[in-house]
Amino acid sequence: MEFELEAVLSFSGEIDEIIDDISKVISAANEDILKRGIPKNVESGGASVVEHSVEGKDLHVKIISDRYVRAHDGIVRLRKKLSEDMGKKHHVGVRDVKIDQYQIRFELEDEPKKEIKLPFVDNIKIDGKECEISVSSLTEDQLQRNFVDRIINRIKEKVHHQYYEGKEEKWELVWESKKKDIIWNEDPTEAMEERGWIKKGPTKGKWFYRPQAAKILKTMEEIAVTEVLKPLGFEEIIESIMVPFDVWIDTGHMEGIPNEAYYISEPRTRDPEEWEEMIDEIKISRDVPIEKLDQMTTAPRAGVCYAQCPIIYWSLKNRTISDNSLPVLIFDKTSPSARYESGGRHGIERVDEFHRIEPVYIGTKEQLIDLKEKLIERYKFVFEDILELEWRMANVTPFYLQQAGEEEEDGETELGTVDFEAYLPYRGSREESEWLEFQNLSLFKKYTDSFNIKSQTKELYSGCTGIGLERWASAFLAQKGLDPENWPEEFIKRFGDMPKGIELL
Ligand code: ATP
Ligand code: ZN
Ligand code: MG
Repeated sequence: MEFELEAVLSFSGEIDEIIDDISKVISAANEDILKRGIPKNVESGGASVVEHSVEGKDLHVKIISDRYVRAHDGIVRLRKKLSEDMGKKHHVGVRDVKIDQYQIRFELEDEPKKEIKLPFVDNIKIDGKECEISVSSLTEDQLQRNFVDRIINRIKEKVHHQYYEGKEEKWELVWESKKKDIIWNEDPTEAMEERGWIKKGPTKGKWFYRPQAAKILKTMEEIAVTEVLKPLGFEEIIESIMVPFDVWIDTGHMEGIPNEAYYISEPRTRDPEEWEEMIDEIKISRDVPIEKLDQMTTAPRAGVCYAQCPIIYWSLKNRTISDNSLPVLIFDKTSPSARYESGGRHGIERVDEFHRIEPVYIGTKEQLIDLKEKLIERYKFVFEDILELEWRMANVTPFYLQQAGEEEEDGETELGTVDFEAYLPYRGSREESEWLEFQNLSLFKKYTDSFNIKSQTKELYSGCTGIGLERWASAFLAQKGLDPENWPEEFIKRFGDMPKGIELL
């Protein structure tokens, strides 16, 4: 890696007279502060100021460096030193640092397959695996906030993704149930719509569940709570459905799913007078003047719950959990999740608004590996003995993570995600059709790190398992049909009688 930075340090006063003292600080810096932090066993030049000149209040410098003491860190150190020394001696300090030119050369792991673009960067030049970028618009604050490293990482990441785009995740069968007799092969959503158990809408990817369908979903919920969560000691919490962006920055959702989130805006004011014109227009036109509404509301700064766990982690941010409370076992079943699924929408299986129980667990690695086994045991009981599903479990890892070797974190395969999948007869044969992921279970280290959640003694891990009620219902109904006579006895026991519903003429 090579860095070549040309910058202007603007002082609070004229510095032509003190150029000699400035030159001395620079020479000393070249020997000392611009070389600090280089590991002993590497041969490195660190950073060096190779040119400097003065013009009025401005000091122009050119710094070159290698990966140790990168030039943008060098300039920050130099600024501090100059301000300290020149402040004491001549009562002037550096007011501002402005980048004129910044060229960075580094090696990529793979040759890019197509052009790469990036904000903050003026130009990206690629020759084979050699990459040279120029940036000139970064402020000092942005330099200090590590923008350059993130720019380099983002370029590497983009090249990496070009190689693994569209590739499947790694899928490894862990367990599968026995085959069950196929007694029905219709699409349960269509069948429920025909019977009037559900109604599509009122907006894209949403459903209205009439009493029959609502009772099926609610029975699924009840089963999950009483047969899985309560026996393992999970306790219920209630959280907000609105997630501010800073929480999604911490979880990575803001960069991971900005294209799937639903966003929330607020009224600019609650003053009724300011809304009067808008209200008049609605009363007269019986329509919403969208442009006017746009002016009366803020740009979004929050989104609708995408998964319930981010707010749960937020609630424990920067806190130390007592050993007495470990493992923390909690769940939310109040907040629905919203996702803009667009072309992927189908039936009640892939919707824009779904109902999910999300249990979250935080504890030591041993505690969570033990919990994972117990959860799987309880789930098995439910899917085998109550719902009598044909289903399977698989270890899954997104392809790009496999390549980065991240799933082998700590050399442990217990971390990662298990998908639970059910066979949907209406989609075709067992072998060729796509099975439905009706829930998952994950364990990882990342969220306790990013939210700085600590215990008294040990390192904490965490995880969640999303119990999708629409997905449980889809799996069950696709295999068992809508006629309770064909439903397993253990399910009927918990479901009771079919609601009368509403007869529509
Ligand atoms: P998929 O690959 O099916 O899009 P995902 O990886 O986005 O799923 P997660 O974010 O892991 O799903 O969510 C966990 C659970 O939430 C899923 O197992 C499923 O039960 C449920 N779920 C996710 N998206 C939807 C959706 N659009 N409609 C209904 N349920 C969903
Ligand atoms: Zn989660
Ligand atoms: Mg998805």
